[in-house]
Amino acid sequence: MIKVGTRGSNLALTQTNQTIHALKSKAPEFDYEVVVIKTKGDLRQDIALGAFGEKGIFVTEIEEQLLSGAIDIAIHSMKDMPSEVTKGLAFSAPPLREDPRDVLITNTPIKCVFDLKQGAKIGTGSKRRGFQLQTLRPDLEMVPIRGNVETRIEKIMTDNLDGVVLAAAGIHRLGLSPKNMIYLSTEEMIPAPAQGALAIQYRASDEKVQMLLKRISDFETDLCVRAERSFLSHIEGSCHVPIGAIASVFEGTLTLKGIFGDADGTWLKTAEWTGDMASPEAIGASCAKAITDQNNGPGKVFLVGAGPGDTELLTLKAKNLLENCDAVVYDRLSSPELLKLVPESARKIYVGKAANQHTYTQDAINRLLIVLSRTHHKIVRLKGGDPYVFGRGGEEGNDLKALNIPFEVVPGISSAIAGLNYAGIPITHRAHASSFHVFTGHFKDDQTLDFKTIAQLEGTLVFLMSIASLHSICHGLMREGMAVTTPVAMISKATTPEQVTFVSTLENAKVDLPADQKFSPALFVVGNVVTERESLNWFESKPLFGKTALVMRSKDQASKLALALKAQGTKVLECPMIQTVPVLSSEALSNTFKTNHFTHLWFTSENTVKYFMEGLLNIGLDARALSGIKILAIGNATASTLKTYGIFPDYIPETFTQEGIISCMSAVLHAEDHVLLPCGNLSRDILSKWAKAICQVTELTTYETRPVSTEKSHAEALEALISGQEVLLPFTSSSSVQNFHNWLLDKDLKLSEKCKCFSIGPLTTKTLKSLGYDVYAEATTHTIDGLVYCML
Ligand code: SAH
Repeated sequence: MIKVGTRGSNLALTQTNQTIHALKSKAPEFDYEVVVIKTKGDLRQDIALGAFGEKGIFVTEIEEQLLSGAIDIAIHSMKDMPSEVTKGLAFSAPPLREDPRDVLITNTPIKCVFDLKQGAKIGTGSKRRGFQLQTLRPDLEMVPIRGNVETRIEKIMTDNLDGVVLAAAGIHRLGLSPKNMIYLSTEEMIPAPAQGALAIQYRASDEKVQMLLKRISDFETDLCVRAERSFLSHIEGSCHVPIGAIASVFEGTLTLKGIFGDADGTWLKTAEWTGDMASPEAIGASCAKAITDQNNGPGKVFLVGAGPGDTELLTLKAKNLLENCDAVVYDRLSSPELLKLVPESARKIYVGKAANQHTYTQDAINRLLIVLSRTHHKIVRLKGGDPYVFGRGGEEGNDLKALNIPFEVVPGISSAIAGLNYAGIPITHRAHASSFHVFTGHFKDDQTLDFKTIAQLEGTLVFLMSIASLHSICHGLMREGMAVTTPVAMISKATTPEQVTFVSTLENAKVDLPADQKFSPALFVVGNVVTERESLNWFESKPLFGKTALVMRSKDQASKLALALKAQGTKVLECPMIQTVPVLSSEALSNTFKTNHFTHLWFTSENTVKYFMEGLLNIGLDARALSGIKILAIGNATASTLKTYGIFPDYIPETFTQEGIISCMSAVLHAEDHVLLPCGNLSRDILSKWAKAICQVTELTTYETRPVSTEKSHAEALEALISGQEVLLPFTSSSSVQNFHNWLLDKDLKLSEKCKCFSIGPLTTKTLKSLGYDVYAEATTHTIDGLVYCML
């Protein structure tokens, strides 16, 4: 007979019976008996939970019975368990966890927390729940309640509440289905650590029970609960302050989100930590530390102008903020490129329109900023162009001010000015216009612009959000007497490689300018300045403007080529096929140095420099360790990388290839030399073979090249290749050709004839040709710049 101890509440009994049921199906050879134990927590219904000064009020008596042998197993809710383990007792790995989320049960049906009426009264005894709800809805009133699940639900009626918050697990276990209930996502409400999980305790010495309990345990639940409880024990809080944690496991990594606040709700902080699932306790501890290290107090919201589209038109201030923020809220007008600046750990929330649907109303965005300011420090609200130019930045600022949330506004380059510039239209010009006027073309049917006044203006007229109203604007201006031959232009997707400009006159605009939303965002310009486009159109006349290129180098190297092409107006799809990873152990490197005396050190790529030198620094050595050794760099780029480590190479061959090195070193190398040759796993061996015939050579594999498995950008690249449009394909190495070829094979794709392959040098060309690709052009200087030059 196995005696199972539990509290007497309906929920406790139900979860005990469910556990016994699971045990019976796995271990039918035993009999089980339920023993109900009354605890201090059950006896003091009159006092609010937070008011008990000690942890584990539901637990102590049950543990005593277990230690005395009166029961063999004790079943608790894991979230009631104190973080320290009682001596002589142990926990089994818990069974599969119930839904860890919280639910909101209400008296009238709602879809989300924002549907609750203003000032609604919500019952909950938990500060964690109360403060998190108030972060979403500062107007809500929290009413402390206690009692078992059923009593709490009844309190909606008896205490005249608008709703109560409970754990979903309890509702599910009891088989209840309240009429009006919504689940609170773990984004809105981080649950209590280990919520929904059971804690099953036994005497540490009882091996029979230990083996029995193993049969019903669930490893993912175990990992998550361990991480969450580790967070709890490291956060140094008490039951007087809000603490929550929720973990999830995905493909071998565990992510833990924690929340922690003070007793009166003046601050509430969150942090997220991801790591190897094999160390859940360490993740819990790191997440707790990340939270503790944050400053208290409300975060600051920065309304930041993102510029018109070209990412380089960002201000330095905006760049700094993006690189250092912990949350960013963005929409369609801010370039996705900019998000690459944001730290990986920061929250990124899209609030723009998706497929013509408003995902967030302006009200919801304002509330979101408020919510984020309670849990984050630096929140960037990124807005296209300038935040105050038809950007609703003013309204967002007003709302923040009303709640005393600190904010700053960072101006941005407005599309109204920059968009015209990129189309070759100066917004003022001494010959044509000495003022400019910016309007919104977005007006309701019954309203319109004051065309009478506008038609009298002598400056340049710029209309934003005007695709739909284009024709009525032209009509209005002509009606009020503006010359019908006045030049006009429409600029779509200004400052991006997709920019298109249409030029016409007021009277012909209807025919010449496409009033089609597919050209959104677009600017409409009226005025003589448009004629300057003939001589000032510097952007659209760049040689590679509007072309699409696929950049395939490994992630860390892609940016140089990508930047150079972007500067030419090219639409760059960054599509890394390979990545390099360091493989040289510190031990191997120190041994190499201890046991050899090198006379030469040859670097055949930037990567070999990077991985070798980083390895050296890692074992506590610096450039001095290489003194007296003759150093060679295969080319200029490798030499400049070396320079960043304080080393000037003794040799750079005339031709930047391994053959080039051979002809450069053939007169220098002697039999008594010893060459150290750092390499990658795929490096060519012609150089080492040649040198080995002359002297001693030690090859050191410092990094490996591996395929990149999944990348969002791959989808975009595929689309471009499938569409049959012209795509430029610059190849910088044989391995990138090979990787691209494998990738095409894998996708069952053949290159269309419109695609043009460019090669950095003869070897890459050879590989391209051997795999059946035509080479459109080969660079004469075998560098990135040389490659871009040959594409131009
Ligand atoms: N605050 C923004 C404007 C927001 S209103 C700014 O200062 O630029 C949105 C309108 O801006 C669009 O409808 C369009 O008229 C214009 N716009 C923004 N970016 C644009 C771009 N890259 N090309 C053309 N028009 C753009």
